Amino acid sequence: MRSSGLNNMAKLKVLFATSEAAPLVKTGGLGDVSGALPAALRAIGMDVRVLLPGYGQVIAQLAQHKVLAAFDNLPGFPSARLLSGKMANGVPLLVLDCPSLYQREGGPYQDAKGHDWVDNPQRFGLLSKIAAVLGSSASPLDWHPDLVHCNDWQTGLTPAYLRFAQGAAPSVFTIHNMAFQGNFAPATVQELRLPLSCFGIDGVEFYGNMSFLKAGLFYANHITTVSPNYAKEIQQAALGFGMQGLLATRGGDLTGILNGIDTDEWNPATDKYLVKKFSAARMTGKADNKKFLQNKLGLDVAPDVPLLGVISRFTHQKGLDLLLEIAPHLIGLPAQLAILGSGEAQMQQAARNLSHLYPGKVGVNIGFSEELSHQIEAGADMFIMPSRFEPCGLNQLYSQCYGTPPVVHATGGLLDSVVDCTAETLKGGSASGFVFKGMNTENLFTTIQRATDLYHDQRKWKILRRNCMAKNFSWKASAEAYRAVYFKVLGR
Ligand code: ADP
Repeated sequence: MRSSGLNNMAKLKVLFATSEAAPLVKTGGLGDVSGALPAALRAIGMDVRVLLPGYGQVIAQLAQHKVLAAFDNLPGFPSARLLSGKMANGVPLLVLDCPSLYQREGGPYQDAKGHDWVDNPQRFGLLSKIAAVLGSSASPLDWHPDLVHCNDWQTGLTPAYLRFAQGAAPSVFTIHNMAFQGNFAPATVQELRLPLSCFGIDGVEFYGNMSFLKAGLFYANHITTVSPNYAKEIQQAALGFGMQGLLATRGGDLTGILNGIDTDEWNPATDKYLVKKFSAARMTGKADNKKFLQNKLGLDVAPDVPLLGVISRFTHQKGLDLLLEIAPHLIGLPAQLAILGSGEAQMQQAARNLSHLYPGKVGVNIGFSEELSHQIEAGADMFIMPSRFEPCGLNQLYSQCYGTPPVVHATGGLLDSVVDCTAETLKGGSASGFVFKGMNTENLFTTIQRATDLYHDQRKWKILRRNCMAKNFSWKASAEAYRAVYFKVLGR
C-alpha cells in the first residue's frame, strides 16, 4: 500500500468511481448519490473526482474536454481514453471514453428491450480496471488519489485489481443494493485478466461463478452501505443474498451511512418543475400542485380526496404488486393513485389495467420522467413505498421534504428515516409518516387507511406535514460520516 507522503493538512484526494451520476445519467438511487455526495465531500474540504463511463448521453453533455490519457495496451480490453469534464455542480469528472463499449442506443446496463448487455463484464471490467490504474503507481495522471471509493457491482472489481497492483491506494466499497451482483461465468476471471488464484471462496468466486459484488466485498479495505439498518440486515440470511456470511465476517469493517438528499434539486421552495413553489411557512402552493397533478394524469380534480403518489422501479423488491392488488379497496376509501414507473411487463400491464378500470381515480405514467417525479412528490398527499427491502430509499426522503408523509414497510433505510405516526410521536414532534410491519396486503391497506383517516383530521395532518418538512436530510452529515470512514482506512 502506498504511503502517500502527504501531511494531515493536505486535502484528501478521493477517486469516486461509479456507473451513473445524476443529472448526466441516472437509473436509480446510485445516480442520485453519485451526483450529490462528491459535491458534499468537496464542500467539507476534500478533492473528490468522479470517474464515469462515457455513455453517449454523457459525452454529449461534456461542454469542452481535454484528453487526459490514452489506454491502448491494456491486456484484455479495447483502447480507451480518459476525458476531462465537469459536473454542473462543479465536481471534476474523468470520463472513460470507449465508444465500442459505452456509446450505443439503450440504457447503461440494458438494451432498449430490457435485456442486460451481453458484454457487461467487459464494460464494467474496464471501468473497474481504469479506476484501479488511476489508484495505483501505474496511473498516467499527475493526480494520485489517496483512496478509491467504489460503488456497487459495476466497480466491484476495482478493489481486486488494486489488491494485485503496485503502489495501490486503499479502497472503500459502497453497497447501494445487494440484489445486483454482477455474477458471470468463471472464464470471466481470465478474460478480465485477474489472477486465476483469486477464483476461490477467499476471492471472487460465488457459488461457482465469479462475482463483481463479492470481489468488492472481499477485497475492499472498508465496506459501507446506505443506511445503518440495512448494514445489519445484510449480515443475515433473509437479506444477505448469499453473502451474509462474508459480510458478518467483515462486520467490523462495515458501516451504514444514511444517504442525504440534494437540496438544490429537491426543495419545494425552489423546484423548477412545480407550478407553484411552497415551503413549510407558505403551504398554499401545495394545493395548486395537487390540482396540476390531477389534471396532468387525468384524475378527477378533487381537493379533498387523498392522493397517493408512487414513483418506482416496477420490481418485486418495491412491493408494488401488493399496492396494485389493493387498489380497488383504496379507491373505495376514497383515495386516488398517481403512479410513475417502469419495469416488469406484468406489473406495467396491471397498472395500465387499473387506470382503464378506474378512470379519474388511477393515473398511470409508464416511463422515466424526472419532471413528473418532482410533480408527484409535490402534488400527492402521501407517498406509498411498500418495499420488501430497501437499502436506503430516496423517495421517502424527498416526500418528507415536500410535506407528503410516506407510508413505508419497516425495512432497511425506510426504518431509519421515517417515524411512525402515533399519538405520542405526533405530540412529541417526531412523527413523519406511517410504518407497517409484516409484508402483506392487509397490513399495507390498514396502514394506508390509518393515513387517510388522519388526513381528514386537518389539524393533526398539518402537524404531521410540518414535522416532515422540519427534518434535515442534507448531505453534510453523511459526507462527514464518509470522511470519518476514509480517515479510519487511512489510519489518520
Ligand atoms: P432505487 O435506486 O432502488 O430505484 P431509490 O429510492 O433509492 O430506489 O432511488 C430511486 C431514484 O430514482 C429516485 O430519485 C426516484 O425518484 C427515481 N426514479 C425511480 N423511478 C423513476 C421514474 N420512473 N421516473 C423518474 N424518476 C424515477
